[in-house]
Amino acid sequence: MTKKSTSKKSTRSFKIEFIEESDNRIMVLLRNIPVTMANSIRRVIISHVPTLAIERVFIFRNDSLMNDDMLAHRLGLIPLTTPLGKYALPEEAPDEEGSKPEYAELTLTIEAKDKPITVLSSDIKSKDPDVKPVSGDIEIVRLAPGQGIEAEMWAYMGRGKDHAKWSPVSVSVVRGLPVIRIKKTGCNKKCKKCVEACPKGVLAVKKGQLIVKDLYKCTTCGLCMEACPDIIKVSIDETSSILYLESIGQLRPIEILSLAFDEVIKKLDDFYSSLNEVSLENV
Ligand code: SF4
Ligand code: SF4
Repeated sequence: MTKKSTSKKSTRSFKIEFIEESDNRIMVLLRNIPVTMANSIRRVIISHVPTLAIERVFIFRNDSLMNDDMLAHRLGLIPLTTPLGKYALPEEAPDEEGSKPEYAELTLTIEAKDKPITVLSSDIKSKDPDVKPVSGDIEIVRLAPGQGIEAEMWAYMGRGKDHAKWSPVSVSVVRGLPVIRIKKTGCNKKCKKCVEACPKGVLAVKKGQLIVKDLYKCTTCGLCMEACPDIIKVSIDETSSILYLESIGQLRPIEILSLAFDEVIKKLDDFYSSLNEVSLENV
């Protein structure tokens, strides 16, 4: 933990440490950011980070058993890759020169010939190569021979607070930092009851020493403590937070995190400006 101190009061600096990162998930340690504050970031991730999603659907032909409303609803829920900064945000006016359009155009034109077919998200064509379904395997509808669909879709930028289809994550959780204390004396290191009790493989005996192998896997379930209450104590440090998110695929996890921080800072700036306005009005 980074700690700076002055003669009268101490200040703790924030620090972000990457614990785990892959194409669709990220886990970070927000050091000296308490769980209450990290929870605001988590909520912003779910409901304020903007993505593209189909909002308007023009159906010219639909012979399937599914009615137009349901078909449009299904198309709206297909996650689309979102090129950052390319399309206007809901609060932005579209760029007059057309360099920042309001929406992305996609089409779905398909017909079943001599046998039934399943229409998949990979059948959707996009005018913009940067905007396409995150997965081509999403089933939309079944068509019998001779049936067809012709539709045009417009995808707009939006936020999860207005509809879940714009939310960029399937999982976004925050928890405190686990703290595992092992008494230096009293452990015989041979019984390994605590190691066997841990469902996450957090503890291990290595070179005759009981060690914490992977702290971030600890769920603070307390089973190790139950196995050996005199030696092991598990607690939670809520002055730091672990933030974990899984992207649906519209944006990379690191982009989601970075946009969430931008949104939080913007909201704090707006709040600060409002406070200033209120205090000036009262002068
Ligand atoms: S902490 Fe307790 S349960 Fe674990 S190895 Fe030591 S004595 Fe055994
Ligand atoms: S609290 Fe649970 S997860 Fe954490 S080390 Fe103990 S048994 Fe394992």
